[in-house]
Amino acid sequence: MDIAKQEQLALERVEILLRDHPPASTDPLDFLRAQFDAGLAYVYFPEGYGGLGLAPEIGELVDARLREAGAPPSGRVTNAIAAGQGAATVLTYGSEDQKERYLKPLFTGELMGCQLYSEPGSGSDLASLSTLAVRDGDEWVVNGQKVWTSGAHRAKWGLLLARTDPGVVKHAGLTQFVIDMEAPGVEVRPLRQMSGGAEFNEVFLTDVRIPDTERLGDIGDGWRGSQHTLVFERYNVGRVPGRGSGQIARAVEAWQARDDKTSPAAQALREELVRFWIDFEVLRLLQWRAGELRASGNTGPEGSLGKLATSLIGRRFGQWAPNLLGPAGMLMDGYDLPEPSAPGRRGDPNQRGTHDLQRGCVGSPGTAIAGGTDQIQRNIIGDRVLSLPREPMVDRDRPWNEIPRN
Ligand SMILES: Cc1cc2nc3c(=O)[nH]c(=O)nc-3n(C[C@H](O)[C@H](O)[C@H](O)COP(=O)(O)OP(=O)(O)OC[C@H]3O[C@@H](n4cnc5c(N)ncnc54)[C@H](O)[C@@H]3O)c2cc1C
Repeated sequence: MDIAKQEQLALERVEILLRDHPPASTDPLDFLRAQFDAGLAYVYFPEGYGGLGLAPEIGELVDARLREAGAPPSGRVTNAIAAGQGAATVLTYGSEDQKERYLKPLFTGELMGCQLYSEPGSGSDLASLSTLAVRDGDEWVVNGQKVWTSGAHRAKWGLLLARTDPGVVKHAGLTQFVIDMEAPGVEVRPLRQMSGGAEFNEVFLTDVRIPDTERLGDIGDGWRGSQHTLVFERYNVGRVPGRGSGQIARAVEAWQARDDKTSPAAQALREELVRFWIDFEVLRLLQWRAGELRASGNTGPEGSLGKLATSLIGRRFGQWAPNLLGPAGMLMDGYDLPEPSAPGRRGDPNQRGTHDLQRGCVGSPGTAIAGGTDQIQRNIIGDRVLSLPREPMVDRDRPWNEIPRN
């Protein structure tokens, strides 16, 4: 089916959904369940699994129309990691039973989830991870520690990458599982960040039992699975922001609110503000281009270029923007961030916005780390765009249990 026909089909379905479940008078959870049943949750998933087997970019069209009509935010907004790449991983590697149990509640936000990949000794070099899963009959017994696990403190569902064979090379001995975050032996300890929030956590796993039926994919196939998961993460990056929207819009508002607009200080800030506005517009077009390429099946290095640019511009902007507020730029109302909106419920728009520029400043260093650090993006660009020699990998051919580690 060509793209025009796909768009038509999806938009017809959207209008039927809105007619039968008007967002203003429908319970948000009922709406989201109906959206899933109509195949409008993940349009690129097959029919019967929350999708219609359409091209991924049709999803952006559907989301835009639903937002415009006042539809409630789904788990893809309130719990993006689990309902985005987590759900796609279940679809690709899960059993029919897992798909039946997890896809819909992940989408509606009833089942909150997290991704347990990074460890204290393994982040950029994820394949070196040490959390061990040992087979015991129909179960696996898991021991180890994860870290930086976003949302683990409110998660029931976890996507776990663990080592099931220490005697083979590091990439070959990994397996993915769904882990029940409320199972005995799972201990979640929130980490407080300088931005005030405590959204990510240390997770300690001590003799946690996972039924083999909760394995995702074949034993030893976890590395391939996790790489797929990270590709799905890019599908989930979401819509390209509107021109001049988001953080830059709040900065423009802050400048407009000044009562000294003709002063030399305000004029100087205005000049810098315009430069940032242009940077954000270039970034937006870069993201758009990457989205178009993804939609046509080209997952090239644009993702790394976009990620690096987002981090560099975002950090520079984050550190500069509080200047617009004068001395008030140093203040915040409190240490705690508002909790994300409850599953399927619309967030209170008044909860955000008051101290966004200040919070953006202290939160900005995280963008250089989350989802692959700046240095790793530069390595990818050097390797795949500039054809520079690859980094030497001294442990590639050695079994994991023979590699020295702390
Ligand atoms: C906001 C946020 C949310 C996160 N959420 C999650 C989550 O939900 N689940 C999860 O599993 N993880 C999560 N992470 C963890 C994140 O994926 C890791 O922090 C990241 O991959 C970097 O790993 P690391 O912290 O171990 O740093 P390391 O890999 O130890 O890197 C330390 C430094 O060395 C540099 N470096 C490392 N290797 C190379 C190399 N080959 N060449 C050049 N420089 C190199 C790095 O760039 C970095 O500056 C999150 C992180 C952040 C900041």
